[in-house]
Amino acid sequence: MKHNILIFNMTWTEYSARTSGGSTPVLLPVGALEQHGPHLPMNCDTLIPGAVCQQVAGRIDALVAPPLSYGYKSQPRSGGGNHFPGTTSLDGNTLVMMTRDIIKEFARHGVRKVAVVVGHTENLMFTIEGCDLALRDLRSQGIRDLRIVHMGYWEFSSEQTLRKVFPDGFPSWNLEHAGVMETSIMLHLHPNLVQFDKVPLHPPADFPPYDIYPVEPHRIPSSGALSSAKTATADKGRLMLDEYIETISMALIDEFGAESFSRPDKQEQTL
Ligand code: ZN
Ligand code: MN
Repeated sequence: MKHNILIFNMTWTEYSARTSGGSTPVLLPVGALEQHGPHLPMNCDTLIPGAVCQQVAGRIDALVAPPLSYGYKSQPRSGGGNHFPGTTSLDGNTLVMMTRDIIKEFARHGVRKVAVVVGHTENLMFTIEGCDLALRDLRSQGIRDLRIVHMGYWEFSSEQTLRKVFPDGFPSWNLEHAGVMETSIMLHLHPNLVQFDKVPLHPPADFPPYDIYPVEPHRIPSSGALSSAKTATADKGRLMLDEYIETISMALIDEFGAESFSRPDKQEQTL
């Protein structure tokens, strides 16, 4: 029998049976509601890590928590900036506290292996802070055996894959906002959500190596995309997504220990 993967579809008794022993990892996608150019929906940063988590959980017998669908404020050089209509962001402290509270709740249920899978660059330091505060609070309650793996999924791209997807050279992850990678993965996962005829054709944004506040929108491409996704294809999306699923699964097995992944019905077997 295939186990349930999505926590929000489970009963509390099913959830408790899976989590109380501490061996089942829980994966938490953390995204954003952020403009992604005129051609992509605003939930890309939530949808992509959510899909990664579901596929990984199926392979390693983990559970997926409901994603955090709002993130830290979009920044000009990595997300176009927070001035676009639709981009709906949290203060840093809110994201820190949400991450901290959710991890502490998992720990209360008995979970001892958590993976935070971030889909929005601007979240990273705030979700790290949430993990750190959760661990500090839990230590003060005598809980010292919770292990957290924290990642931005895109960091699992190999040089080889980047060379295939960007034959003319890889710009940077920041300039990839609403660019070839996200558009390709969306074409692979949800072609009906991509308006490919609206892909901007402008050159990549040209930013100085510093930020200016208040943000000056005229310095940012008005499309909201930081580079053109005109070379995006569903095949590239499949290539990149499959690599994330494979390498993130392997990383979690490494970090959480292969013994974590035995099925509950096998756990009665002792040495
Ligand atoms: Zn994005
Ligand atoms: Mn983003």
